[in-house]
Amino acid sequence: MKKIILLIAIFFIGLNSYTQNNDRFYATMALQDAHELQNDQPGEIQILAERGNEAAVYMSETAAEALHGRILVHGPGYIFKPSADAAIESLERIVNRDNSRIAFTITEDVAVLQAINLVNVQNIEDHIIELENYGSRYHTFGSATQAAMDLKTKWEDMAALHGRTDVSVRLYNHSNTQMPSVIMTIEGSEFPDEFVIVGGHLDSTSFQGNNDAPGADDDASGIATITEAARVLFESGFVPKRTIEIMAYSAEEIGLVGSQEIAQEYGSNNVDVTAYVNFDMTNYNGSGNDVYFITDFTDGSLNTFLMELMNHYNSSGSHMFTYGTSVCNYGCSDHASWNNEGYMAAFPFESSFGQHNPNIHTANDTFSFIGTAEHAAKFSKLCAEFLIETAKSDGQLAVLEVDSNVYEIYVSNNTLYYEFNDYEADISSVVIYDLVGNTIMTLQDPDNQGAINMNHLASGMYIANFTTDYSEVVNKKVMVR
Ligand SMILES: [Zn+2]
Repeated sequence: MKKIILLIAIFFIGLNSYTQNNDRFYATMALQDAHELQNDQPGEIQILAERGNEAAVYMSETAAEALHGRILVHGPGYIFKPSADAAIESLERIVNRDNSRIAFTITEDVAVLQAINLVNVQNIEDHIIELENYGSRYHTFGSATQAAMDLKTKWEDMAALHGRTDVSVRLYNHSNTQMPSVIMTIEGSEFPDEFVIVGGHLDSTSFQGNNDAPGADDDASGIATITEAARVLFESGFVPKRTIEIMAYSAEEIGLVGSQEIAQEYGSNNVDVTAYVNFDMTNYNGSGNDVYFITDFTDGSLNTFLMELMNHYNSSGSHMFTYGTSVCNYGCSDHASWNNEGYMAAFPFESSFGQHNPNIHTANDTFSFIGTAEHAAKFSKLCAEFLIETAKSDGQLAVLEVDSNVYEIYVSNNTLYYEFNDYEADISSVVIYDLVGNTIMTLQDPDNQGAINMNHLASGMYIANFTTDYSEVVNKKVMVR
């Protein structure tokens, strides 16, 4: 009881001092940061309540900037709240959600390799530059809303190009910002009510003035990364069993506003979100490893699964890249919004803490500072691996498949035999891949019936990919002993 009275007293002092000032807002942040800010700049921040390691505060834009400078993190470092009540209540809130229902497994080698073989660095580069060219995507600017509307069109066109009738794209309108978020939905064929989600933020900011906030790495790179991952799912014909959603958030830079409103809606409706993975800054290669899994405010078993995916798909060969772990502190990006709702969330980041792109939140966060999208392409592959292995293939391809009655493919004495008899199309190519995506052998325009000697190959599993001149495909796992 004593504590409640104290809270109310602090709350009224705060309210009386600051209600006239539009420049101030409510938020939650790490308690230690709140105390340090209050010591440094007592006029800029009021602590309304404390609980555990968290504080509810009423703070100024000046304090927000000081916080960013202090904790050396790329995100805001606080979570915006629309009212004092909302800030204080969020400290008290405990969300219990049962995350034990999914067993993460790796079973989709064929679909994953087909998809990640298609990741195209140039597409990512072009998309980053396209977003940078808005000049600023600061959430109150018309150019930010335009960027959201244009992204919706881009995603719709991408799905239409591949004839996807299972895909829809919507703008999500918010209460605390005029800029909408964008959500693409690929409806699951078997479990449409189970959601596998990836996202990143579309808005940008600059402490040098929001008129010039190109936000190329932060976070055009993340949007381009998840867009390319979705595109390779479409091009490879992947049809998910669970529903996949790709999200581009508004207003992350002012305290995770966009993702928070969406995650809260999903949470209060008890939407069954299997897992969420965040892509915010993917293109600056600043540390010894490629991908750094953020271990605070994320889920340990989901992080482990993402590492297992990389052990399986990215430990050697043409798709090889490495990982480490790091921490990112309070409110550092949109994964926190999902984590706060009790969902499993992860955040693979471009470098270790403090070694990320030094130009973010300035006019110099441009594509030309890095000059290639090679680093981001690794994250597109990881994103596709996560989406395919978590949503699972429904076994059919959206691209045309050869009727399984008209062919036979098998291995005997390490020789691959194939027959496409009574079949009107011709085989245009046979490609043998290993399980990490290396092309081992390619035959152009072979006969419709033949035998391929695989004796010289190392023993293990391979994928034989047959394509016909009707653009139909057959993929078959084959074992060499
Ligand atoms: Zn960011």
